[in-house]
Amino acid sequence: MKYPFLDVGFTYKSLQAQMDAALHDVMDSGLYIGGPAVARFEAAFADYCGARHCVGVGNGLDALVLALRALEIGPGDEVIVPANTFIATWIAVAQAGATPVPVDADPETMNIDLGAIPGAITERTRAIMPVHLYGAPVPDLPLRALAEEHGLRIIEDAAQAHGARVDNRRAGMLGHVAGFSFYPGKNLGAFGDGGAIVTDDAELAERIRMLGSYGSREKYNHESIGYNSRLDPLQAAMLAVKLGVLEEWNARRREIAATYLDLLAGTPGLRLPATAPGTESVWHLFVVRHPHREALRAALAARGVGTVMHYPIPNHRSGAFSQSHGHLSFPVTDEICETCLSLPIGPHMSIADAREIAALVDDAARNL
Ligand SMILES: *Cc1c(COP(=O)(O)O)cnc(C)c1O
Repeated sequence: MKYPFLDVGFTYKSLQAQMDAALHDVMDSGLYIGGPAVARFEAAFADYCGARHCVGVGNGLDALVLALRALEIGPGDEVIVPANTFIATWIAVAQAGATPVPVDADPETMNIDLGAIPGAITERTRAIMPVHLYGAPVPDLPLRALAEEHGLRIIEDAAQAHGARVDNRRAGMLGHVAGFSFYPGKNLGAFGDGGAIVTDDAELAERIRMLGSYGSREKYNHESIGYNSRLDPLQAAMLAVKLGVLEEWNARRREIAATYLDLLAGTPGLRLPATAPGTESVWHLFVVRHPHREALRAALAARGVGTVMHYPIPNHRSGAFSQSHGHLSFPVTDEICETCLSLPIGPHMSIADAREIAALVDDAARNL
């Protein structure tokens, strides 16, 4: 494949010396759970997001589960989630014991349809979990108004949106608490699993830290049946190095996206992604839609362009949720799942690569 969908190995090759030094520091320290590497990254990531507190956890799913548990959202409670999202958003709510209440997608942005949220609120609703899908943030002001009116929490799933902005506010600061993932393919990715929450609420941050450490704030004292979910210091040390280049890498993603949006504007049959006014996406993914997705995907593979689908099976039709949610209807989400195709995007690509890929996509679409 001349243009693979993703090249996560690039990140090590481009920062090898700094990363090797950071790794050896952790190995030499003799501290392999917690310690200064984790504390340093937590402080740096909080600062980057503009948050008072960051707590490293084991992965992005746990970040969301721990946030829900710390807010005492559980059995009998409902949490509004987008129908169109990676399944982790729904699983987090279900693992906390609450019920995910999906809302269909906006056909333009593919994010949660803000106008449809009020119709999903019941007396059991405790929180809204917006997902900044593909790196495109959900505008927070309409959400804040709803949260205030109905006494709800906003728990952001920011797993795909490190650094994204609404006006001057970063993803992660658009609600009460946010969960991030550092899965290797994410905009800020580790060399394995990792995650974090950010919040301005000191007590909530401490509760999340307690829950992620066997329900313990101090040795021997376990106040709650918690989890073992902590950010590994080796991963934290790597993430601290990568955080230093995140702005640069996100800027490259934006340039690639702008190139695609420009060069693919007239491509027949292709629907391009849109972002909400006042928001700045970090383009974790560049998701186009085409009625003959499989044919386009094959034609691109034949031209050396790797593509992936995010996501082909809607959550309400997955084995995990078909019993509980299979009777519901989300026509926009269904349409996205049937037609979506993610083009290569990432800091490993040059603008020349993006131009070449756009030409290949245009050619493929014209010759289907
Ligand atoms: C990646 C992702 C998660 C989960 O993160 P993990 O680190 O893989 O557990 C949650 N939500 C969304 C939208 C994601 O893309």
